[in-house]
Amino acid sequence: MDDHGANVYDHFYRCLTVQHVLQHIRRNAVTNAYISRSEQKTREPHLKKEENLWHIFLDSLSILCDHKTGGETVTSIAAELDHAKKGKTTFWILMNRQQLESKSTLRTSDHLKNLMKRLHLSACAVQADEPSMFKSFHDSVFKAKDRVNNYRKKLQGRIEALERRRTELSYEENLLVGAIITLIDENKTVETLCKKAYDFRSTGLMRKLVKRARKDPTDEWKHIGHFIGRLGAWFKACLFLFEHASDFLDILSNYEVQLVPSEDCTRFTSPQPMWDLERLLSKTLPTHFDVSKARLEHLFGQDAWEVANSRLEECEATDWRLKTHAEASMAYFFFIEDPQFVNDDRYIGCSKPSCMCCELYLEALSGNFVQRPRSGNAWIQWRLPGPSLSASASAIATMQRMADRLQRAIEIELISASKGQVFTHDSSTNISSVLGRSSMHNQ
Ligand SMILES: [Zn+2]
Repeated sequence: MDDHGANVYDHFYRCLTVQHVLQHIRRNAVTNAYISRSEQKTREPHLKKEENLWHIFLDSLSILCDHKTGGETVTSIAAELDHAKKGKTTFWILMNRQQLESKSTLRTSDHLKNLMKRLHLSACAVQADEPSMFKSFHDSVFKAKDRVNNYRKKLQGRIEALERRRTELSYEENLLVGAIITLIDENKTVETLCKKAYDFRSTGLMRKLVKRARKDPTDEWKHIGHFIGRLGAWFKACLFLFEHASDFLDILSNYEVQLVPSEDCTRFTSPQPMWDLERLLSKTLPTHFDVSKARLEHLFGQDAWEVANSRLEECEATDWRLKTHAEASMAYFFFIEDPQFVNDDRYIGCSKPSCMCCELYLEALSGNFVQRPRSGNAWIQWRLPGPSLSASASAIATMQRMADRLQRAIEIELISASKGQVFTHDSSTNISSVLGRSSMHNQ
């Protein structure tokens, strides 16, 4: 990498690390109610008003094809219209950390093929095929059983923590805790747990939980709502796909499934030392920004400096291994190959909302990709897809654009904090709340 590339690389990771640290001290400030919650400003979430059925269709397929290791993997699916093959649709699938010929990768692509076959048959029938829907749900959660059990464990941990301070909870809160304990205890199989978690979402208890979460300074209830949402996501996705399969009958009548050839083939070095908070902040921001210990503590609470420092220490102690994210790799593949998207809708489906870097990457790539739902999390070991930076001037330019956006976001956050406002990001619980009414809904 030449000097310019190395500078861009270092600056990008410094900005990303500052964002990451800011997220921590912001959450800490909110938890300590240092900044009154009534003063918080929430960024407008994407896609709340105009939800697009095709986008949800691709996201739902991605959720059902995301199976591995307890919540760590992400799957992305996008659809190409191939004129050379008489308008056939190619559903491209990609998982992060995939190895093209590995058994698990092939199993996932087989699972997608089976799902598509069932969806096609259901779309051809007069009514959505309920047994087929339940079979797809069963197969999907069974394949993802480690992931489901991981969410079960996390939910259990949160509830046990609340139970330990039961005497401090209100009567209503105790009722909620009791109902969630029953939900976990009475549903030992992954299938029943996921189905009942989905059912729980439409009860009055869930509405109370959401209301409670909004007023919760510790975020405990928000996490509980998040895990119930995640557990219910498989059934929600299945229901949506089978209800709407007939809307996409043409596409489902002529398609194929292909794996995206993507591999992590290059190694990156860790950026210039950036684990000293004072140096990190002063190197990242222009000199007219006061980022002294006193200022940060004034903006984010008296322990902000300590919280930021201990977070940096944890980052430094972690192995520096950059990882590509599935939706970013998929966007790169479509950008380089430039195939036509189905209906010219340049949407990349994914099993989770996108992190901050994936969101910025899809914008910076100039591929006119449609905005995705986002979580806004800043993962510092995010990796630019494609070959090594040294081989590509355009990759450096993309990284530069992303670094500029990251730096601007930091500056805005500091200015906003000085006005007593704190940004909170969207919940990553749901990909969408759109569900049609159907006979299957109350099964
Ligand atoms: Zn990401």
